[in-house]
Amino acid sequence: MIARPADAAMDAEVLVIGSGAGGATTAAVLAEAGIDVLVVEEGEWVEQGDTVPFSLDQMDRQYRAGGVTVALGLPSVAYTEGRCAGGGTEVNSGLYWRPPGELLARWREDFRIADFDPAELLSIADEVETVLHVGTDPAGPTAPSEAMRRGADALGWRNGEIPRWMRHDGSGAGQRQSMTRTYLPRAAASGARIVTGCRVDRLELDGDRAVAAHTTLPDGRTGRITFRDVFVCGGAIQSPALLQRSGIRGNIGRSLAVHPTVKLAARFADPLNIPDDVPVHQVKEFAPHLSFGGSASNPGLVALSLLDEWNGFRDAVVDWPRISVYYAAITSQGRGRVFSVPRLRDPIVTYHLTARDRALLRSGLGRLALLMLEAGADTVFPSFRGAPAVRTRKHVATMERLFSANRASVMTVHLCSTVPIGEEAARCGADSFGRVHGATNIHVNDASLLPTAPGVNPQATVMAFAIRNARRFAAGESHG
Ligand SMILES: Cc1cc2nc3c(=O)[nH]c(=O)nc-3n(C[C@H](O)[C@H](O)[C@H](O)COP(=O)(O)OP(=O)(O)OC[C@H]3O[C@@H](n4cnc5c(N)ncnc54)[C@H](O)[C@@H]3O)c2cc1C
Repeated sequence: MIARPADAAMDAEVLVIGSGAGGATTAAVLAEAGIDVLVVEEGEWVEQGDTVPFSLDQMDRQYRAGGVTVALGLPSVAYTEGRCAGGGTEVNSGLYWRPPGELLARWREDFRIADFDPAELLSIADEVETVLHVGTDPAGPTAPSEAMRRGADALGWRNGEIPRWMRHDGSGAGQRQSMTRTYLPRAAASGARIVTGCRVDRLELDGDRAVAAHTTLPDGRTGRITFRDVFVCGGAIQSPALLQRSGIRGNIGRSLAVHPTVKLAARFADPLNIPDDVPVHQVKEFAPHLSFGGSASNPGLVALSLLDEWNGFRDAVVDWPRISVYYAAITSQGRGRVFSVPRLRDPIVTYHLTARDRALLRSGLGRLALLMLEAGADTVFPSFRGAPAVRTRKHVATMERLFSANRASVMTVHLCSTVPIGEEAARCGADSFGRVHGATNIHVNDASLLPTAPGVNPQATVMAFAIRNARRFAAGESHG
């Protein structure tokens, strides 16, 4: 399936840059429509099972910069991006949320997205659910997931098991239906060529057209790919960075939106830790502003969650089998920026939390701590410097008083909105089908297009937009 670049020069009708949720679906739709497609992916093709989930090996091979990337600010927000065939879909938790219908309608009005029917997106979501085998786990939730449910039920808070794109054959944990298992093989079966380990450094422009992509292989060899149209699908950080490196301006990289999260580690009387999987329950009582869920909790990640208050919490690290890590995520009003800087390979990213964001993070962590006590945790260890161990409701109040977002480990895995879609020229970077404003043959088709962070796990929304736009392109209706 993987075409190694034999020459320094290649050619395609359509070049797709990036093979994640946006790129893989774009490639499949276009190839199935008979278009000659070349996919270029910076990361390597890693078969599922070749790396242990959340291991350093996986971080090294499937994440950008080993998973160590940060949006500067007060506080800085750590973020992670997949960098491999399949992008984020290979490493993520697989938790599936349909695009929220009301939000789609609001986006259509606020960003003036033309010819945009929320019902079309929801019908694409139906297709995606079938292709990805979205469903709940027949084996039932794990102990860390059950703890979340128990605590939420005790408080009367709305919660539920979130379905995942996992295929269950009756044995074992199920197989993640990531892009290397679904849309990339489909694209290849229809003739798409997929080149991995090849980075696009910049697009070469001729007026309002891109005429070629300049590439680099890991050994330093460079190449040039010509095409008729290009779809930039590098994700919400890399897509705007690539466009900026290519000299494209406008509303590119100015409106990064994320779901900032803060964490805590909860210790229970009995072992419950699952090192290689995440809890599937989420609490949506306070959604869309505030959601709770479970995080990866291998021993290293448990230690990391105790690290902010290491002097006080370090003795708990040996109890890791009885500890699981949970998060409170907010729909942020803050925004960030992506700046590509001459001669630097990676962009500089910033993020600014508003006062309302900070207050939500504080109350979110407090409510999550309460939920964990109700679930039976003997101690809760919040992830911020100066945090107290929480054992009673009174301690929850103390913790909230001591909390400061500036001292917390704030992180995110949901990155969106750096090239928002729509006709609202003052804030959109691409037109209603993802073509970059001011360019005739440059399209963006990934998480960058989402007008705002959706308040739910975003992959299905990214896929629905990408499939809609690629279909429209294939039908010839969005050609310049
Ligand atoms: C740890 C983690 C957990 C997550 N959990 C969930 C979840 O449970 N549910 C959910 O809905 N979402 C989840 N997400 C988010 C979801 O994975 C993303 O929203 C989705 O993958 C975004 O798709 P994308 O196409 O925009 O970018 P990506 O999937 O990130 O794909 C972009 C690809 O482009 C490649 N690329 C970038 N620049 C270049 C270049 N210059 N040249 C060549 N290739 C390039 C990258 O290497 C990457 O492979 C999670 C993400 C992470 C990181």
